[in-house]
Amino acid sequence: MQKLIEGYRQFRTQNWPEQKRLYEKLAIEGQKPHTLIVTCIDSRLDPSRIFDAAPGELLIVRNVANLVPPYEPDIMRHGTSAALEFGVQVLEIPQIVVMGHGLCGGVKALLEGAPPNAPDFITPWMAIADAARKRALTCDEPQRQECCEHEVVKTSLANLMTYPWIAKRVAAGKLTLRGAWFAIASGRLRLLNPDGVFEDAAEA
Ligand SMILES: [Zn+2]
Repeated sequence: MQKLIEGYRQFRTQNWPEQKRLYEKLAIEGQKPHTLIVTCIDSRLDPSRIFDAAPGELLIVRNVANLVPPYEPDIMRHGTSAALEFGVQVLEIPQIVVMGHGLCGGVKALLEGAPPNAPDFITPWMAIADAARKRALTCDEPQRQECCEHEVVKTSLANLMTYPWIAKRVAAGKLTLRGAWFAIASGRLRLLNPDGVFEDAAEA
């Protein structure tokens, strides 16, 4: 806890005076994020840093392996779908980015099976990406893991379109969907092009 408290003190003495006005404005006017990001829980990924974003700019939805489940309106507890509904239907965010990443433990579990000490939830959750796993099996080692990380992003983008209110907004030109992949080791971001290839974002 001490580490967190030290960080908080740093925030209060350094960040807060700099961003006080912004926080006050956001409190009064409410949030209007320009992008909803679906990304992984991996602690090495920090979308706010990668995109140099201030508070209020990004609505970040995090789960194991940045998966979007298909549209399934039932009585189950759909955390990711609820976040999408809030971001798209209530906040009317005009852009969704699904950002996968290198060295993803969730994708590793998809390819090799969940760690033995995590038997409860990871396997059924990762089954959302079974089609991505099958496509990745056609890639040779050692590219298979990265190939699967890319395919998982494509699966999530395809699943986004199963939400009727997302498909409707995309068709009306009110919402755009984009795939991305971040390489932790090099700090480089790639964007998914319409041709299915991930290209360095600096070139975009
Ligand atoms: Zn991950």
